[in-house]
Parts: sequence; C-alpha cells; structure tokens
Amino acid sequence: MKSAYEDLLKAHSLSLTSVRLAVLEALGRQPHADAATIFESVQSRITTASKQAIYNNLNTLVEHGLIREIKPKGQPSLYETRIGDNHHHIVCRSCSHIVDANCHGDMPCLSPVDAHGFSIDEAEVIFWGLCPSCRKNQK
Ligand SMILES: [Zn+2]
Ligand SMILES: [Zn+2]
Repeated sequence: MKSAYEDLLKAHSLSLTSVRLAVLEALGRQPHADAATIFESVQSRITTASKQAIYNNLNTLVEHGLIREIKPKGQPSLYETRIGDNHHHIVCRSCSHIVDANCHGDMPCLSPVDAHGFSIDEAEVIFWGLCPSCRKNQK
C-alpha cells in the first residue's frame, strides 16, 4: 500500500526505507512524541530498528523540513508532522502535556518592536501554564 508519506519522501529526494516510513507513520499517529516514544512505536513493528537509526532518521526528516522539532525547556525534543503553519504550543509545567495553539494567521504572528533590518518569517513561541487536569488536582 502506498502512503502519502512515500510521495513526501520522494518529493524531497529522500530514499524510502521501512524505518523512515515507520517513523513518519508513528509521528502521524502520535503528534508531539519524543524520540524514545517513536523508537518504541517503530520497534513494535520493525523489531530490528535500532535507537540510532531512529535518531538519524528524525534528524534527517527535520533537516529536510518534513517534520518539525519542538524543544520545550528541560524536556527532550518533541517531533510532529504538522509543519509549515508556524503554529505554537502550550505546555503544562506540571505534567508536560502539550497541545497545538494556532497562530493568528499572518506569518509570523508576532513581530518585534525593532526587526533590526531582518526579514522575519517565523516566531517560535511556547506558552507555559497548567493544563485543565493539573488545575483540577491543585484545588
Ligand atoms: Zn498538566
Ligand atoms: Zn504541534
């Protein structure tokens, strides 16, 4: 069966390997997963997949812009297949739950007071707070 990810890899002239495809599929099912989670998910289907192969594939896919890497402070990098819309993230300080937050529309949706002559096309924002279930537990 041919998947949309195969076309995506072809469009970026990336070779199609079963591990690479499995990484993309795992991320499609579990957005904002870290490398360890993706490794588990891929290994459950391809038992020979090594941790190093997963890391290498994640790096290659980030470099080619097929996936996005999010680096919340103090946490392992998270990856997602939702790219190109410059959306932001809200992370729970307590349990690390992460959700997407849409950008206001224009890219970037935030502009500095002074751009110092730069042409700016992206603003990376992470909102921090407490998620609904952690707020409930606090009371
Ligand atoms: Zn929480
Ligand atoms: Zn996201």
